[in-house]
Amino acid sequence: MTASTLDTTATTVEPAAELTDGYHLAVDALKLNDIRTIYGVVGIPITDLARLAQASDIRYIGFRHESDAGHAAAAAGFLTKKPGVCLTVSAPGFLNGLVALANATRNCFPMIQISGSSERHLIDLKQGDYEELDQLAAAEPFAKAAYRVSRVEDIGRGIARAIRTAVSGRPGGVYLDIPAAVLGEVVDAAAGAATLWRVVDPTPHQRPATEAVDHAIELLATARRPLVVLGKGAAYAQADAKIREFIESTGIPYLPMSMAKGLLPDDHPQSAATARSLALRRADVVMLVGARLNWLLNHGRAPQWNPAAKFIQVDIDPAEMDSNQPIAAPLVGDIESVFDALAERTEPVAAPTAWRDELAERSAHNVAKMAQRLAADPHPMRFSGALKAVRDVVHERPDVYLVNEGANALDIARNVIDMRVPRHRLDSGTWGVMGIGMGYAIAAAVESGAPVVAVEGDSAFGFSGMELETVCRYRLPIVTVVLNNGGVYRGDGVNPLATDPSPTTLMSEARHDKMIEAFGGKGFRATTPAEVAAALTEALASGGPALIDCVIDPSAGTESGHIAHLNPKGVTVGNLTPPTK
Ligand code: ADP
Repeated sequence: MTASTLDTTATTVEPAAELTDGYHLAVDALKLNDIRTIYGVVGIPITDLARLAQASDIRYIGFRHESDAGHAAAAAGFLTKKPGVCLTVSAPGFLNGLVALANATRNCFPMIQISGSSERHLIDLKQGDYEELDQLAAAEPFAKAAYRVSRVEDIGRGIARAIRTAVSGRPGGVYLDIPAAVLGEVVDAAAGAATLWRVVDPTPHQRPATEAVDHAIELLATARRPLVVLGKGAAYAQADAKIREFIESTGIPYLPMSMAKGLLPDDHPQSAATARSLALRRADVVMLVGARLNWLLNHGRAPQWNPAAKFIQVDIDPAEMDSNQPIAAPLVGDIESVFDALAERTEPVAAPTAWRDELAERSAHNVAKMAQRLAADPHPMRFSGALKAVRDVVHERPDVYLVNEGANALDIARNVIDMRVPRHRLDSGTWGVMGIGMGYAIAAAVESGAPVVAVEGDSAFGFSGMELETVCRYRLPIVTVVLNNGGVYRGDGVNPLATDPSPTTLMSEARHDKMIEAFGGKGFRATTPAEVAAALTEALASGGPALIDCVIDPSAGTESGHIAHLNPKGVTVGNLTPPTK
């Protein structure tokens, strides 16, 4: 695309020189690299970048807060294996987006935050420019890499570098700073076009050495109680058929981490998800596939794990090995190549029948206990009643993407709602972050065109609730289910002085359904599981934006959900009694 043509109506004899500028070059470079969607919030100096992107057939999705736009870009990266792009304005907008960039990096999602920035010479001498901030320095600690483009002829290079860095090796968030002056710089169009290029093979296959593969196979062959743990890296890798083939041909039980649910259907006979504690405590050889031994896996430590367990780890990042436990057999490479190599070298092994039976027995026991809990229908409704209703409706719609955040809303939904399709569940992830809800939901709907159900605790929903307007503006097929128990964790907190609400109290009488109605979406209020099911069925059938406010007993839920043990143990716990006068 060309910015303008010089006006040569005067007496010029030279032919008109075609000109372009930084805005056009940035958009052209993104398009050349197949970036088809940008998520962002416009303002100085990037508004024209968004306009030009639209004019160039790149979809621009405008948000109400940069952190939501950033989370959307990160989720798009996870879902598509290509960097999701987020556009932010200088300083405050940039900083708002940074939470999402950091979260993307922690989750190993490929994302690029492109931000406009103010005048470099004023920033560097701290002369007090509009939205002055040394953004490159600020981004550095939170990103996989941070780059700045200081000359218009480097825009193509900067974008190529950002793309390759975001998706190659361990994926992550990349910051790309483009100062306003560079965006506005005018250059000869042909010369400018010659500075752009398309990145070749940004995610090259990396195959582990044959000896490493054989070593892992030998170790697996010694196992009496082998276990495969599938993490969101395995889901991200898009090697679904190869992973499934390995698991089914070896007969090894597997445990899906929350975002790996659906890689194999949750009702698969080899799933150990419903016997998780036993599986961890007893497994003697564990093969981690795109899953880190971080807090989500208790760092691989006893008593949750068998202290004698030996680990095989499949990961693209060699430095991940030994981060928590000794890794007896590192398989460093991309998951697809590793599973190709495993398939070539693996001899048929006997399925570990006794071990599978042991897990199946525990699983049957736990499933029966859960069924009992779900069958109870207390009034007022509790989390499990509402979520059972969601589960039953979603069961009929395996195409639905599920977004999930909260404390109890996350813990319980993760266990209750089965997934049957890969990469259809997005949640708080590695950081346990709140606020991803609407951003992830919007990206899932935009990238897939499929319906999305966002199961949100009322507190978690509050972080990104204003994006309901975005959902309605783009008429996205997103149904937000707010589990409204009127509080952070729960709604029955007490302030001993009885004036202000307690720190954990929110408004239990809040009508979140009215929020979406303000923007033209459909609001529902549900007080029983039957009402939740009816509302969700109707909302999904409508194909448009909807919100179901589920009224949950304020006394339902536990503080900090399943991770209450992470609260420091002081002398004051829970609700305090009033001070004596
Ligand atoms: P979970 O939270 O589900 O356990 P993690 O985010 O802890 O998963 O782990 C994901 C891991 O997957 C990271 O260590 C990352 O380096 C790795 N990974 C991501 N993509 C690939 C890939 N294509 N091949 C191999 N490993 C990958």
